[in-house]
Amino acid sequence: MKNKVVISLVFGVIFVALGIAVYLIIKPKAIYIHNEGETQGTIYSATYEEPEGKDLQDKIEKKIHEFDMSISTYIPNSTISRINNNDPAVKTDLYFETMFYAAQEAARRTNGAIDITVGPLVKAWGFFNFGNNKLSKFPNVSEFLPYVGYKKIHIKDHKLIKDDPRIMIDDNSLGEGYSSDIVAELLKEYGCKNYMVDIGGEVVCKGLNSKGEKWTIGINKPIDDSTSTISQIQTVIHITNCAVTTSGSYRKFYIRNGKKYSHIINPHTGYPIDNNMLSVTVVAPTGLMADTYDTPFMVIGIDSCLKVCKRIPGMDCYIIYTGKDGKNQVVYTEGFKKYLTK
Ligand code: ADP
Ligand code: MG
Repeated sequence: MKNKVVISLVFGVIFVALGIAVYLIIKPKAIYIHNEGETQGTIYSATYEEPEGKDLQDKIEKKIHEFDMSISTYIPNSTISRINNNDPAVKTDLYFETMFYAAQEAARRTNGAIDITVGPLVKAWGFFNFGNNKLSKFPNVSEFLPYVGYKKIHIKDHKLIKDDPRIMIDDNSLGEGYSSDIVAELLKEYGCKNYMVDIGGEVVCKGLNSKGEKWTIGINKPIDDSTSTISQIQTVIHITNCAVTTSGSYRKFYIRNGKKYSHIINPHTGYPIDNNMLSVTVVAPTGLMADTYDTPFMVIGIDSCLKVCKRIPGMDCYIIYTGKDGKNQVVYTEGFKKYLTK
């Protein structure tokens, strides 16, 4: 009797072990779907593991379109474009209001270094919506400053109130990061636990990649290249469950009389930034947060950038700048170190 029990137990164990072995061998490999397309004058991509292996590209594009109809300056009848054209019937929606309050809070924290009313200046310098950079003459900045200033706009009863009708909103400093959040949210709703969304280089990720590792993101070397075709990696970072965005002066710029004019405008002077910042990469809990701060960080310079960044929970940054010797130098917050190792 005792022997029979032992034999059945041994067979039982062998059976279970064989079952596990067979499962491990034939277990379906995690399939990650990859989609790409265009939005906001740039490219989006999404890589995700959908629980049933479904391709969600149609849903992603629908969501992006819905979002762009609110806050994309590239669409003539979007909410923001209608606001810029002073359409009296236009109401602010949730996407617009979320963008608005994020920008206004960051403006308060950076002494107005991010200013979404900077639109007329961005346009005057030839950068709005990839405007033509072939300016025949430089803008007379003092003409524009009276209607630039984040304190000159308010939202009341879902209406954007402008102190001056010439005010024009430019949300391109944070739109891409915010839209990465929106796509990430959609993937989450469909039960995806592992994904990476990249819109114009502004990344939001969760879980692990198809190799079961954290997501690897390259930080570009800031090599002056207005054609955006040169891409050399400065370093890579390993992240999960967060967002990473970069603002830089090395892709959207032009040179006049040997001087570089970047697409990032100092709202106080009305001129393109003229400091030693080459790029700032920000890691934060959301794409909206990271992208809202990377631009003003370029404006306020190294010391203020590090100071403001340290005060914001979950935020870290990596700055590449021109050192006194003319060579590229790097400085980052203490918390950024963990992203530099696997
Ligand atoms: P990128 O578009 O290269 O990712 P940013 O996130 O820094 O870089 O956004 C830059 C864009 O933001 C500019 O092209 C312009 O439209 C707008 N912009 C420029 N300067 C400012 C500023 N000081 N505050 C708000 N928006 C700005
Ligand atoms: Mg930005």
